Amino acid sequence: MIRVETLHKHFGGFHAVDGASLEIARGTITGLIGPNGAGKTTLFNVIAGRLPPTSGTVTMEGEDITGLPPHALFHKGLLRTFQIAHEFASMTVRENLMMVPGGQSGERLWSAWFGRGRIAQEERALAKQADEVLDFLTISHLADEKAGNLSGGQKKLLELGRTMMVDAKIVFLDEVGAGVNRTLLNTIGDAIVRLNKERGYTFCVIEHDMDFIGRLCDPVIVMAEGKVLAEGSASDIMQNEAVIEAYLGT
Ligand code: ADP
Repeated sequence: MIRVETLHKHFGGFHAVDGASLEIARGTITGLIGPNGAGKTTLFNVIAGRLPPTSGTVTMEGEDITGLPPHALFHKGLLRTFQIAHEFASMTVRENLMMVPGGQSGERLWSAWFGRGRIAQEERALAKQADEVLDFLTISHLADEKAGNLSGGQKKLLELGRTMMVDAKIVFLDEVGAGVNRTLLNTIGDAIVRLNKERGYTFCVIEHDMDFIGRLCDPVIVMAEGKVLAEGSASDIMQNEAVIEAYLGT
């Protein structure tokens, strides 16, 4: 689904991504791991259109998507979860979900031509869709909570929920486990697996928690010093000497 070829991202003389090549196969939950500073986040940012690469290409289903802006990638079904922006913290969880799909007539200048009836109808449909998403994620009880009041793990679930309001094909998830308790981490893991199995989502997940990686991800890609160091099943990776050395060396 995604092919990254000889990607470089330099910051001045520093090569944060230094010729990385990798593939993310359709239908997988691919893990991306590596020591701090390996270039994982920078790679995500380049693929997701937040940073232009210095050189190299990214293709999605054979189409060159290198350097496309996030909104263009969004329309192709490539989404990167992002933290709930400050201005959305005071909105409810349901409202946050309803904000996701673009192009509601309520947002358009010509909306007045269609009158309020149509807008109300669209809003009801969106609210229904949002409630279905919350039900899927088992957080219906949070629908009317302000997003800013959620715990770290609940916010992650909401981020995941936002991808369900549009037709996502591949979702890039950054550090699911950071500051999330074990129970909620399992809920998030279950949601990822169900989205993968039931809705055909492909995932690429950066994560430090090796239990989580081992339970969810196949294959696992290891980055170190801006390059891909190894790829394989979680158990293979954990026994790979070059990988162990890369981790011990930091
Ligand atoms: P990881 O996610 O694997 O921890 P990052 O992609 O965040 O790694 O960072 C890789 C390296 O690139 C780090 O040494 C970091 O300091 C550097 N880096 C990241 N972004 C920038 C930037 N905007 N300017 C300069 N250096 C950066």
